[in-house]
Amino acid sequence: MASKKILVTGGAGYIGAHTVVELYASGYLPVIIDNFSKSDRTLLQGIEKITGKSLVFYEGDCANKQFLKGVFQKEAKLEGVMHFAAYKSVGESVEHPVMYYRNNLDSLLTLLEVMKEQHVNNLIFSSSCTVYGEPDSIPVDEQAPFKKAESPYGATKQMCEQILEDAVKADQNLKVISLRYFNPIGAHPSAMLGELPIDKPNNLVPYITQTAAGVRKKLVIFGGDYATPDGTCIRDFIHIADLAAAHVKAIDKLLVEDKNKGYQYYNLGTGQGVSVLQLVKEFIEVTGVTLNYEIGPRRAGDVVKTYANPAKAHAQLGWSSQYTTKDALRDAWAWEKKNLNH
Ligand code: UDP
Repeated sequence: MASKKILVTGGAGYIGAHTVVELYASGYLPVIIDNFSKSDRTLLQGIEKITGKSLVFYEGDCANKQFLKGVFQKEAKLEGVMHFAAYKSVGESVEHPVMYYRNNLDSLLTLLEVMKEQHVNNLIFSSSCTVYGEPDSIPVDEQAPFKKAESPYGATKQMCEQILEDAVKADQNLKVISLRYFNPIGAHPSAMLGELPIDKPNNLVPYITQTAAGVRKKLVIFGGDYATPDGTCIRDFIHIADLAAAHVKAIDKLLVEDKNKGYQYYNLGTGQGVSVLQLVKEFIEVTGVTLNYEIGPRRAGDVVKTYANPAKAHAQLGWSSQYTTKDALRDAWAWEKKNLNH
């Protein structure tokens, strides 16, 4: 039987690339789109090494309707779409809000139009725990209201989810699952695939590994005076391989549902809160390397503390995280050491 084709927008990015590996492992045929605005070809080579497959790949922007339509027509019939193509940096979004709204909204809206025209009805959307803003209580479950977003990035994810909820309500055929990621970290356990920021990293773990590798002089921990046990922010750090596996569970679920069951959404996290300082110390412990770090000023747009209640994903997707934070840090470091030339 022919493999089911799944379009993966942003498939050369960090989360997309790891998910492509999982899709192949589960018998799907991923069709990748990427415009390399925040990624480069290196991760595609890593996917090929791990899977032994030659990739189906189109270079272009999924906010470009002509381009996107062309891919749908050429690859007919796609069974579903995983939409990763978006900007993801909290700090950058505070500096460049219009760029964030334009990119993250345009790509989703264009995708929804083309999916409807081409009769492709299954969509997995990359959402984020930032939709909850600063939650009233933690762990945060899916019933928690969307508070005011702390950053334009968070606001784009809230708006995209609103668009999806309305679209599902209006179209009996459209089936959507949004996955609300907590903080994905780490790399593929083979060290052939990982996070590869094209510029100075914005996210914590690549900043840690690059500092440990001597690429950056010093890690600055953003804020040591928050109302948390050690004064630093608290996050739920989840191994990228666990996160990728959840996407396959989600598309499996959509493909067996014959009708739209309403808009569906799940938290993807470990359920454990870990502070930024704790993570830094764990990194030093598991790798044995020295890390030059200091506590600096707070970063605009940061949520203070959040971690997931992942019970809904356990119950309804049959998914739970398998790796520990230490596994993720070890894998991130193994990957960094392989990429010391960046
Ligand atoms: N962080 C930090 N130094 C850095 C990068 C991030 O202290 O160089 C902190 C950041 O303030 C936040 C946490 O690490 O509390 C996670 O940040 P990241 O950007 O990785 O993910 P976010 O939670 O913002 O999506």
